[in-house]
Amino acid sequence: MEAGSGRAAGTAAARAAAPQGAARLAELLRSAERAVVLTGAGVSVPSGIPDFRSPGTGLWANVDPMKVATIDAFRRDPDRFWRFYGERFATLHDRRPNPAHAAIAELERRGLVRAVITQNVDRLHRAAGTRRLVEVHGSIEWSVCLRCGGRVGLDRVLELLGGGDGAPECASCCEPLKPDVVLFGELLPSRAMDEAWSLAGEADLMLCVGSSLEVFPVAGLPGLTRDAGGRLAIVTQGATAYDDDAEVKLSGDVAEELERVMAELA
Ligand code: ZN
Repeated sequence: MEAGSGRAAGTAAARAAAPQGAARLAELLRSAERAVVLTGAGVSVPSGIPDFRSPGTGLWANVDPMKVATIDAFRRDPDRFWRFYGERFATLHDRRPNPAHAAIAELERRGLVRAVITQNVDRLHRAAGTRRLVEVHGSIEWSVCLRCGGRVGLDRVLELLGGGDGAPECASCCEPLKPDVVLFGELLPSRAMDEAWSLAGEADLMLCVGSSLEVFPVAGLPGLTRDAGGRLAIVTQGATAYDDDAEVKLSGDVAEELERVMAELA
């Protein structure tokens, strides 16, 4: 027998004896020293925020976000842009964190996770108590004036939107405000991406939650962790390109799966 196949058989035997599923993920979290969580739209689905990439759901059912939520559409007609986007803001404003957000915040509080990198703009990780949060697609928390750099908070933006049907404007220069989220056609914020890349490169465990890991450059982060010798764990419904590389893959409802993991850690 070749040495290679002998080693493979040994690994398979070791795997059969090792804990599976939620118990295995709990074990990985306990033994990791620099674990990082990466989240996508799926973590907010139990909060009632549909993943706009799922066809036929929610606010995006009758519009193509690739046409509406673009930087070109904003520049061309900010009033029209805000008539659409303002609705999204108002919807997101009322949402509350769910048990998946709570579990992720608790992992950080217990020192089992260093940071959370998210593609979501909904502020729910922060609302759940996550402290080190890297929002690589920005956040609805602020809207910005592209002329003077002024920032206006969400509550004020909603007030301005409620008072008229056009774009909210900067109080100093009357320029239309742009939501501080990454629109199609915009680059990702370089400071957040730099932080995400270094966290992923240093991570000995990356836990990916609620992301199909399809949208680059964020989809490259698990590969960075893997190539640097770190482990991957995935909690998401549906297949991802990293399933074969993952030490553990949990495919149920994200909130229920993470609650099981927390029960194992209790
Ligand atoms: Zn301004």
